[in-house]
Amino acid sequence: MSSSSSSFFAPLDSSLITPPHAVPISSAGSGAAGIKVDLLVVGASFAGLACARAAALAGLSVMVLEKKASAGSKLHTTGIIVKDAVDSVPWLAEVPPALVRRIEGVRLYAPNMRHVDLHAPGYWFWATDAPALLDWMVDSARACGVDVRLGTLFEQALWINGRWEVPVTHGPCITATYLVGADGPHSRVAKALGLSRNTRFLYGVEHEYQGARMAPDLLHCFIDRKLAPGYIGWALDGVGVSQIGLARRVVPGGTQALRLDPLLDKIASVVSPGDSPPVAVRAGMIPCGGVLPRVARERALLVGDAAGMVSPVTAGGIHTALQHGERAGEAVARFVRKEADDPANWFVRSYPSFLLKRTLRWAFDNFQSDWMFNHLLGTPQMRRVAELIYFHRKGGPPPQA
Ligand SMILES: Cc1cc2nc3c(=O)[nH]c(=O)nc-3n(C[C@H](O)[C@H](O)[C@H](O)COP(=O)(O)OP(=O)(O)OC[C@H]3O[C@@H](n4cnc5c(N)ncnc54)[C@H](O)[C@@H]3O)c2cc1C
Repeated sequence: MSSSSSSFFAPLDSSLITPPHAVPISSAGSGAAGIKVDLLVVGASFAGLACARAAALAGLSVMVLEKKASAGSKLHTTGIIVKDAVDSVPWLAEVPPALVRRIEGVRLYAPNMRHVDLHAPGYWFWATDAPALLDWMVDSARACGVDVRLGTLFEQALWINGRWEVPVTHGPCITATYLVGADGPHSRVAKALGLSRNTRFLYGVEHEYQGARMAPDLLHCFIDRKLAPGYIGWALDGVGVSQIGLARRVVPGGTQALRLDPLLDKIASVVSPGDSPPVAVRAGMIPCGGVLPRVARERALLVGDAAGMVSPVTAGGIHTALQHGERAGEAVARFVRKEADDPANWFVRSYPSFLLKRTLRWAFDNFQSDWMFNHLLGTPQMRRVAELIYFHRKGGPPPQA
């Protein structure tokens, strides 16, 4: 059976399904006592938890391995979630309101600090308390029957007798019918299974401040070729903290210096971090080369950052991680229930191609010019391109007060 359409899947109702629990088995193919599950997911973040929860809701026994002691610790994301994700991922409707806050538009600054305000009718972003959101997602997935094992590192998987065997340092070997790698930009699952791995990256650093000052309810974006080559700087009033960061293109063998101080000096007239030092720092690599060529093999697939599923222009990956993670879980459930062929053969064809965004990334990499942005910011053409990037073409006049 083959399909690449998202309408292929029936909506799930968590109240209707009682997922089976993982069953202990006396011996795995390796001879060790183990645990047998339908689906093993590596990575308890947006993609992995969405996948695990969807599969559990569809009746599968599901386990998630997460190397960190908590899903919300040591995060490497600003956590902005676009409205399209809120509209298309039903799970997000359950997020406690205290964990999110609406950002109504974008203030885009040229290198000379001239700015334009961009809004789209009815469009907004969510700023999130990302650490608390991910911990909530773990609780929510567990409530659906997912066995989330925190502090458990995935190192390798063995294909034995038509099943995946995954030895873990602490605890019994896990035997799984299906394996999903949702373990981020440097996927260990991809390496262990001989799948493609990300090679093109942006590198981002963000500081969290209490008591920062800036115009509220806006995502402030700063273009500057010297400070943030290949990307931008940003600032927003988030949930309980203000977030100020920047990212740059990673050049193999080149200098990757990325310092926030020069950005803070430059934007001091519009964004002040306040008098206190940052309360937290988030930093990490963002794949920006688009979806990888080989993201699946028999009874295994990659999803989220592990598959390179990040917009090459905005560097936003949460929406795609959640959406395709959820659909991957549903697709695996249909396979395990013998209603569909292995998703490795058809589901991964539905991954986004990012054709336009890859073209824009190429143009930005090769022709980014402060002079051009200083001169073109505010022109109808530049506004249209910016609205296409930020709101997916839904640009319009600012909302009336
Ligand atoms: C500085 C920065 C800011 C960003 N801001 C935004 C933003 O505002 N909005 C947006 O949409 N996107 C943003 N992104 C991108 C976004 O964070 C990612 O696209 C998104 O987190 C991808 O989710 P994921 O579930 O695929 O992977 P990840 O969030 O990377 O999660 C992977 C998980 O796997 C775990 N793991 C890794 N290896 C193993 C292993 N061997 N064993 C067990 N567990 C393992 C990790 O601990 C982690 O929990 C940002 C990225 C960076 C670096």
